[in-house]
Order: sequence, then C-alpha cells, then structure tokens
Amino acid sequence: MFVDKMSQEIKTIKLEIFSGLASVNCYLIKNDQGFILIDTGISKSRDKLEKELKSAGVNPKNLNLIIITHGDTDHTGNCSYLREKYQAKIAMHHDDKGMVEKGDMLWNRKGSILLKIINPFMGLGKSDRFKPDFYIDDNFELSDYGLDAKVIHIPGHSLGSIGILTKEGDLFCGDLMSNNKKPARNSIMDDKITAKKSIEKLRKFNINHVFPGHGESFSWLKFI
Ligand SMILES: [Zn+2]
Repeated sequence: MFVDKMSQEIKTIKLEIFSGLASVNCYLIKNDQGFILIDTGISKSRDKLEKELKSAGVNPKNLNLIIITHGDTDHTGNCSYLREKYQAKIAMHHDDKGMVEKGDMLWNRKGSILLKIINPFMGLGKSDRFKPDFYIDDNFELSDYGLDAKVIHIPGHSLGSIGILTKEGDLFCGDLMSNNKKPARNSIMDDKITAKKSIEKLRKFNINHVFPGHGESFSWLKFI
C-alpha cells in the first residue's frame, strides 16, 4: 500500500537477502510525473520486485529515475535489468561507481573483515554490472523528476553513500542507519568516524521519518 505524503506517496518493497535470513528495502515513490525507485535489491529477488512494480502501475513510460543510495549489491542488483526494461535512468554518487562497474564491494573502501569474506560471493555478477547515467551529490534537487527532495551526501557505510530528503521530512538513508531490532547506526561501517559526522550533519535538517535500507521505518525523534 502507498502511504500518502501530500505531494508524493511511498511504497516500501521488502525483498529477501541471504536466502531469507535478512531483507533489504526498496522504496517506490509516486508523484504527479510518475515514479522514482530508490534501491533495487538483489537479482535473486527480481521476480518479486517486478511484481510489486507492476501492481503499483510502473511501466516503461512512467519510471523516471532509479536512485541508488550506495553501491552494495543488495541495493544495486536489479539496476541494469530495470534500466533496460523500463527505460529509466540510474543516478548515484560518484564515489561508489567502481562498486557497480566492477562488481567489487571493496572498491574505494577500507573493507571490514566481514565484507572481505562475502565480497567474492556477493559482488554484482557480470550481467548486472553497469555504468550509471549520471552522478548526484550534496544538494542535488530532484524536482525535475517530480519530487520535492534533495540529495544529502552521508558517507560512512561507503564513501559514496547518499540520503534523499523530501520537503515533508522523509529521509531515505540507505545503510547509514538501520532498524532491525531498534533504530540505530548501521553496524557495518567502512568508516565509523565519517559515519558519525554524517549523522551529525543530518541533525541540521528538518527530518521527521527515516526509511532505512534494512528494517522498518522509524521516527527521527526515536533515533536522536
Ligand atoms: Zn545494504
């Protein structure tokens, strides 16, 4: 179901990862001009994602943009496929580009032990690798795509991690924060100090509700 937010509606699409042991969220935003999809899940969840997009009314004429919050495979696995199918453009931050072009989640990262272990199995497969259509950075406005929102660069989980903050105060935060058991800074961080700075940076914005890459959405007040 879409949740009404005045000028736009948000649909959360939850997809399985790690054979159902965990999940990742994609967010479909509907506005006057069509749809924007934030993150795309892993390729194994493609059928479910397509079904959800179809039932929401997405077609090759109205998917205006795919935004990825960062380059990890669980968020980028269907980008290439969806671009082809829906003729949509893909936007992301420049600092994660090698992750999706080379299928290497360690690109431009120091790399935690966990990431080093899973990277050979989890990197994007050859057919799912892609070059984004354009890069977005701090303050990029999404009004050309019908969404009253802007991009906030929030590195930490990766150097190219971004958030999308709407005028209504909805923040799509990628993997900077998560809400598996409770709202928290994501436990997997490439640079914890940078992540803390990114959270500090968010405090100056008018945020109401946070939509994380993993777990349920939550009130920003519960986090701070
Ligand atoms: Zn993730």
